[in-house]
Amino acid sequence: MRARRRKGAEEHLANNPHFVILNPEDAKGHWREIFGNDKPIHIEVGSGKGAFITGMALQNPDINYIGIDIQVSVLSYALDKVLASGAENIRLLQVDGSSLTNYFADGEIDLLYLNFSDPWPKKKHTKRRLTYKTFLDTYKQILPEHGEIHFKTDNRGLFEYSLASFSQYGMILKQVWLDLHASDFEGNVMTEYEKKFSDKGQVIYRVEAHF
Ligand code: SAH
Repeated sequence: MRARRRKGAEEHLANNPHFVILNPEDAKGHWREIFGNDKPIHIEVGSGKGAFITGMALQNPDINYIGIDIQVSVLSYALDKVLASGAENIRLLQVDGSSLTNYFADGEIDLLYLNFSDPWPKKKHTKRRLTYKTFLDTYKQILPEHGEIHFKTDNRGLFEYSLASFSQYGMILKQVWLDLHASDFEGNVMTEYEKKFSDKGQVIYRVEAHF
């Protein structure tokens, strides 16, 4: 969903080059140098306003996180959260999830999160869904062998589609939750959309799948 333009968003990102990677092509193959350590790197594609990725960074200091969103305004709100959090193990990237192989070397990422991705319910927009096979090709390349995707959504149609898409791709579904919040899953970090939709009483679906 397209967010309202935020005045000064571009400048805000440009003024924080420590946390916002401004020349992402140059980062390819150098992410461990950027973080200054060899800890695992987990990314969220479509990280929105950043509650999840920032919360995860605070909860798991031994993992490095990268929040990726295509929208400047949205990412600038995520930057506010990153700065307020004081977390050092997090970076932000304003790029398109379909072109991640330009910014990450093969196997450079350890785990990939998708949360509340745009559902694109019309059949003619299937190719835009972040769980469409061309996106899976991209993710597979930057993840290690048997790399994992963890996906949450409130959207039943997108969830059903994604389970089938993972399966048709030959992925293994490790675990599926049809009502995450009613389950015994521990340490769940809520996203902005998750909070909004679960407050309205919608169930949250989750799947962990690997290549
Ligand atoms: N994960 C957040 C935001 C969900 S909204 C949450 O759960 O609250 C979906 C987000 O995906 C939007 O911010 C949108 O800008 C982003 N997005 C959509 N298509 C994208 C793409 N191709 N590459 C990167 N981000 C994308």
